[in-house]
Amino acid sequence: MVSRVIPVDPFDLVIFGGTGDLARRKILPGLFRRFNSGQMPEEARIIGAARSDMGREAFQDMIRKAVEEFGGPHDPEALTEFVGRLDYVAVDAMGDGGWEDLKGKLRAGVVRAFYFSVGPSLFGALAERLRGFGLADDDSRVVVEKPFGHDLASARALNVTLREHFHEEQIYRIDHYLGKETVQNLMAVRFGNMLFEPLWNAQYVDHIQITVAETVDVGGRGGYYDKAGAMRDMVQNHLMQLLCLIAMEPPARFEPDSVRDEKLKVIRALDPVDYHQIVRGQYEADDSQPGYRAHVDNQRSTTESFVAMKLAISNWRWAGTPFYLRTGKKLRARASEIAVVFKDAPHSIFGPEAGTHRNVLTIRLQPNEGMTLGVTIKEPGPGGMRLIDVPLDMSFADALGPDAEDVPDAYERLIMDVIRGNQTLFMRGDEVEAAWAWTDPIIEGWTARGDVPKPYDAGSSGPEDALMLMHKDELKVARYPGLRAGRLTGRPMARTPAQASREEEA
Ligand code: NAD
Repeated sequence: MVSRVIPVDPFDLVIFGGTGDLARRKILPGLFRRFNSGQMPEEARIIGAARSDMGREAFQDMIRKAVEEFGGPHDPEALTEFVGRLDYVAVDAMGDGGWEDLKGKLRAGVVRAFYFSVGPSLFGALAERLRGFGLADDDSRVVVEKPFGHDLASARALNVTLREHFHEEQIYRIDHYLGKETVQNLMAVRFGNMLFEPLWNAQYVDHIQITVAETVDVGGRGGYYDKAGAMRDMVQNHLMQLLCLIAMEPPARFEPDSVRDEKLKVIRALDPVDYHQIVRGQYEADDSQPGYRAHVDNQRSTTESFVAMKLAISNWRWAGTPFYLRTGKKLRARASEIAVVFKDAPHSIFGPEAGTHRNVLTIRLQPNEGMTLGVTIKEPGPGGMRLIDVPLDMSFADALGPDAEDVPDAYERLIMDVIRGNQTLFMRGDEVEAAWAWTDPIIEGWTARGDVPKPYDAGSSGPEDALMLMHKDELKVARYPGLRAGRLTGRPMARTPAQASREEEA
């Protein structure tokens, strides 16, 4: 199998915030990898634009160091050639200096894209100046970073501001989760196989678990995170996107609006969440490390670093099938996984002593990307018909060989999609607003009640109440996917909360 690299059209890409953390860690190392793979044509140019008063050479030096640090193994000659394509202009989004200079560097007849890798408070000023100084026209594209607002009102205001200057078809709202190979694979698995889709509904699916667990703490983002929390930082965007891809109806075509229309319908079909169906948590200090409150430098913080919830989608396909979402920081394992737990067979011909067994399809987004299907077989050996569950396990790395290492990361892929003019993997304005419209009442409810998150131990599986969420439903498969080494371990387990808790801590 050989990966095919199709070069994109020649482009001028201006990165506002080109000297910032995101540009240095992700965007430019990603562009270098696309350059290396032959996807960037000879005529492509990248222009950094930021407030720092530096020259072209200083910017090239900065990016060379960034690629060396964050870009993985590379060929130094290729890197020299790549940085030779970089230019820099000092502009202040809020001022009028530098814009004519930037305009002079842009060429006619190539794709023109502007990446807003700056805080959202600058989006309006940038959009206005791009139009005012005549840098952007109706064919130009703008890429905007998350967070896209912090509630419905602010997201709407951002949409209004951007649409004053650009059409929706020109606006690329990034949720880098959608650029992940394995996330796109969700659509391939669902809609490229006859096997799954006929069973993909409330008649056959008992429940679905979506888990994005991180081992890291809030890191250097404490100030931002304490104002956002897990609900805004992860659920409103990344987990909501995963939920949409898992639950949506088959779009007629793999085209931007077909896909985004179906995702939007899922968000709009979500029931409001009852307070009792949500667990919030905050990680505590342990012997060696400070807890959440110390990390964000706010001893009275009531922001959640963990959230787990049970959701219902009110439509014909999913009525009666609960979706369990959870995400958190400082958990015992790093794992992004979706587990589709099928119902029991309607009748067991093997009698009650064979027990109940369920098929579970686990899709691992990271790490060890792949899929595992738990199937029930006869336990080998004499002595009657005893059943056991075994994993049919596939790791994409094993299945695809060296090609699996060569796939572009999320940012690389998404930037190339911008140049191609393909919005399928970007969020549409109404989608973002619908997600906030569903999220807002939950957060407002917490604030109104003065809700305080439940403490949990760093390195654990989150507050015990999160496990209780599932036990209340007497689910037979109550494990945390991914928090058990990323593999199905065999038998479905009926566990009491106390047992579950002991096992999770083991
Ligand atoms: P940063 O503070 O490291 O960099 C900000 C950049 O914006 C700098 O290049 C700075 O010169 C430029 N800038 C600031 N004010 C300006 C002005 N008035 N005019 C022109 N340029 C100006 O920030 P960052 O971490 O690179 O993040 C940029 C945006 O991306 C933020 O909105 C952030 O929330 C978002 N984001 C960042 C990450 C990440 O991993 N860093 C991930 C997702 C989203």
